[in-house]
Formats: sequence, C-alpha cells, structure tokens
Amino acid sequence: MTPGKLLDSTNIAPGTRLKADACIVGSGAGGAAVAHELTKAGMSVVVLEEGRSFAETDLVTKPSWAFRHLYQGRGIQVGRGNIVLPMAAGRAVGGSTFVNSAICFRTPDHVLDEWVKDHGSPWTKERMAPLFGEIETALDVAKTPPELARKNSLTFKRGADKLGLDGDFISRNAPGCVGCGVCQLGCPTGGKGSVDKNLLPRAISRGAMVLSETHAHTILVDKGVARGVVANVLSRDEEAPMHEVTVEAERVFLCSGAFGTPQLLQRNKLCNGSGQVGQNLHVHPGQATGAIFDEEIRYWDGVTQGYFVHMDGAILETFTGTPELYIAGLPLGQMNLGKLKHLATVGCMIRDSGHGSITWQGEGKLPSITYDTNDADRKKFVLGARMNARIWFAAGAKGVWPLMSTGTSMVTSEAEAIAALPDDLPKERLVLYGSHPQSTCKFGPDKATSVCKPTGETHEVEKLYIADGSIFPNAVGVNPQISIMSLATGIARDVAKHG
Ligand SMILES: Cc1cc2nc3c(=O)[nH]c(=O)nc-3n(C[C@H](O)[C@H](O)[C@H](O)COP(=O)(O)OP(=O)(O)OC[C@H]3O[C@@H](n4cnc5c(N)ncnc54)[C@H](O)[C@@H]3O)c2cc1C
Repeated sequence: MTPGKLLDSTNIAPGTRLKADACIVGSGAGGAAVAHELTKAGMSVVVLEEGRSFAETDLVTKPSWAFRHLYQGRGIQVGRGNIVLPMAAGRAVGGSTFVNSAICFRTPDHVLDEWVKDHGSPWTKERMAPLFGEIETALDVAKTPPELARKNSLTFKRGADKLGLDGDFISRNAPGCVGCGVCQLGCPTGGKGSVDKNLLPRAISRGAMVLSETHAHTILVDKGVARGVVANVLSRDEEAPMHEVTVEAERVFLCSGAFGTPQLLQRNKLCNGSGQVGQNLHVHPGQATGAIFDEEIRYWDGVTQGYFVHMDGAILETFTGTPELYIAGLPLGQMNLGKLKHLATVGCMIRDSGHGSITWQGEGKLPSITYDTNDADRKKFVLGARMNARIWFAAGAKGVWPLMSTGTSMVTSEAEAIAALPDDLPKERLVLYGSHPQSTCKFGPDKATSVCKPTGETHEVEKLYIADGSIFPNAVGVNPQISIMSLATGIARDVAKHG
C-alpha cells in the first residue's frame, strides 16, 4: 500500500480535488480513530484539520504561546449563562489530545447501561470492553508509576490513604513521559501518546491523506446523501483563507469535536429537525483546591495529573500548572514566589447535569456559547471541595484554599474548611473551568429528539456520520478521550463492514 501524506498550507496546491472512500473533518480523538479504523479496512481516507501539525521542537512551553497556537478561540472561549465558565479545546493535528493530560478512563459501566436504557444505545458494556482494550493497546496506556507521579500526587495519595478513600494512580497514554508537567502546552519531549503519535501516523502509513491548516466549511449533499466537503486552506500566520480544496467522498465523518461539529452543521443548515444541534453542551466543569505544606512539594515536578479519588458523580484529580497560573490563582497577599514550592493542588471534576449550547456566528467569528449550572452540580462542588480539603489536611497541610482562584481565605483546619463551604454556598463563588465539551449532537433512536442515530449516521443526511465527543447523549462523567476513540472505532468498524 502506498503511504499517504501529512500536508500543510505550504504544499496544498490551489484548486486541489481529491477523491476518497471517506472524508473526515477533524483529526482529534474521534477523527484519528475513524481514520485508523477505516484505513485498516482498506478504505481511502482524507482528513481535513484546521489546526497545524507541530513537532516537539516547534513548541514554546508558555501558556501565552500555547493558547495562541494550540487552542480553539485562542484559549479564551467562555460559556455565559448563570455563571461564567471558561472552556478549552485543542486545535492542532491531534485535536485536543495534543494538549490533554493523557488521563485514560474507560466509560463507567453504569453510564453505558444508562445510555442503553434511556438513549437506545447499542454500545453495551460487553460490546465496548474489547474496543477499550484495543485503543488502550494502540495508545500504550499504563498506570502512572509513583516515581513519575512525584510529590503533588504522592502527597494527595498519602491523605487519601489515611482516610481509606477509593483512589489510585491515574492510567495515562504517555509511554515516554518524563514528568515535566506541561502536557497542556503540548508535550515538549514527544513522550505523550496523543493521536498524532499513534493512530494518525498508522493511518497515513496505510494511505490516509491528512490536510492540516484546512478549515472545512461546506458539506456537499446531493439528494439527501453526503458526497464530500469543501474547505479553505488557511495561511499560516494570519489564518486567512487562501484557496479551496474539495474532497469528493462516498461518506463524510464529522469529527470536529463538540464545538466544531455543531457549528459545521449549523452553517450548512443540516440535520437540525430536532432543534438539538448545538444544544445539550456538557463540559465536566472543574474547580481547584490548593494547599500549603511545610515540606517542599514542587508541584511542577511530576506528571500533570497523577492520582485520583473517586466520588459519587465527581472525580478528584491532582494537577500541576505553570507558576504564572498559580500566581494568578491565589491571593498574592498570602502567597509569594518562595512559597510556591510548598504548594499542592487538586481539582474536583463533576459529571454535569447543568448544560449549555453553542451557536455558529459567521465565518471567522467566535461562536456564542452559553452554560447554566444547577443546584445539583453546585452541591457536588461543595462536597468535592470539602473532601479535597479533608484529604490535604489528612496529608499534613498547614493551610488550604478550599476554592482556589476565588480569593477565599486560607483555612487551617477541616472545621474551618467546612465553615467556608456551607451547604448553601452561592454558585457565584465557584470558579469553574471546562475542557471536555460533549453532547452537542447527541445520538438517540428518535429523530425528533436527537441529531444522529446511535450508529453515528445523522438522522437526516445519509452517509453523513458523526464520531466525536458531540454524540454522547449526556456527560460521560470521566475524562472522555478513551470513550470517544473507542466509540468512534466501533462506528467506523460498522461502516467498513456494512458500507
Ligand atoms: C486542556 C485539556 C486537557 C484535557 N485532558 C484530558 C485528559 O487528560 N484525558 C481525557 O480523556 N480527556 C482530556 N481532555 C479532553 C479530550 O482531549 C477531548 O474530549 C477529546 O480529544 C475530544 O475529541 P473530539 O474528537 O471530540 O475532538 P478534538 O480532539 O477536540 O478534535 C477536534 C478537531 O477538529 C478540528 N476542527 C474543528 N472544526 C473544524 C473544521 N471546520 N475544519 C477542520 N477541522 C476542524 C479542531 O481543530 C480539532 O483539532 C482534555 C481537553 C483539554 C482541552
């Protein structure tokens, strides 16, 4: 088989026309898994990706550079509703996996059961288990060894163990990780197994053409059947359209993520008979708790996210960040640079029932994003922050900021933490962040209430499939990349088998 190519704006000729069995829009978790699976079945594939392809040597490990080059909306997308919620998604060859923390969880059984029962899902736990296994093998997923987790995670584990909590080291797709803690700025050592390092190159070796810096804008549909995609090739620095490329394809897979896929459908006025395109946005909001110890923690040293504790409807996960994020996130009057090395941090991420929407606003404009939290979710954050404070004190913390970033004062005991986190804590006191957009084109058996069938094919356009985080019927409840890749693999395998 002739290998394919990874092209960029400098080597895609004006007026390029390609033909393929499948055109895939987006090269992230879903798109890479579809390309990998379809090329395994011998199909020809073109992947269109609006972000750039980055080598380790291209990366600058500074948030300002990373937000500008590696994130959608330059890292400043915000959901506005009854709270203000910053939201992140990647924009690069590899999609959000290029900037993610490499956390790997399988979809919990109870969520798969719920989707079968309430959303007509054929993706039972028995059917998903081998798909999870295949993806984990393809991505070299392994549990974080303690020596790479290092002090921030090990200190949290010490507290969790003292309290006898249900926790463990996090499994990650980072076979060459050295624990430098900057995954979210792009992996500078190449040690992370984002999909640009595994699924995509394997697809290219089997003939896939990946066109980066190429923004898909029109889905070609003829008599109710998808026939291809037209895209703009973008100039590198201005990201301005230079010329067009057309892909004629037997089928089209939208894998542009829960922000990109609904916008593409909206601008093409497709598949919205249910009114659900762009609705139902879930993001797994998270809130941080900081702690200070007499001992040195050196939180920046070690894997970005190394240890978790499970709670009902929430997960507590340790995390690191660069110093500027911490300085911005803590009251400077109580903190100074010399103390940074004594700081420890953990987040509480929830399976949100609060939700929002995304709406395309026109070519070159940022989308309008809404998000409303609700009381059930607010309570989960209160319980999560109390638990985080409890764990840090059990580990020997001298002080805890129960809600980092809100200017809450430091507390010095669990009782003070609970007093600072009353049952009726106003939602406005939470400072949330969401980086797992999902569910904006949800699947379901009924075209009156869902955008696509559980097979991924849209209800309204034949041979137009969706295979990314947007098809989940609601929040999956765990870091979603393994769920997305496994489901996308299952969808693509069925298409390859049945046409
Ligand atoms: C900072 C951060 C940390 C995270 N950490 C973790 C983690 O540790 N573990 C985990 O499981 N999950 C994590 N996630 C989430 C996870 O990476 C995503 O849920 C997952 O990658 C989403 O897959 P997707 O296929 O839906 O979309 P994406 O992976 O986001 O890929 C979509 C791609 O489509 C492209 N695109 C969009 N519109 C167009 C268009 N019109 N034309 C061409 N291309 C287009 C985008 O540029 C993007 O590259 C994290 C996410 C972020 C942002």
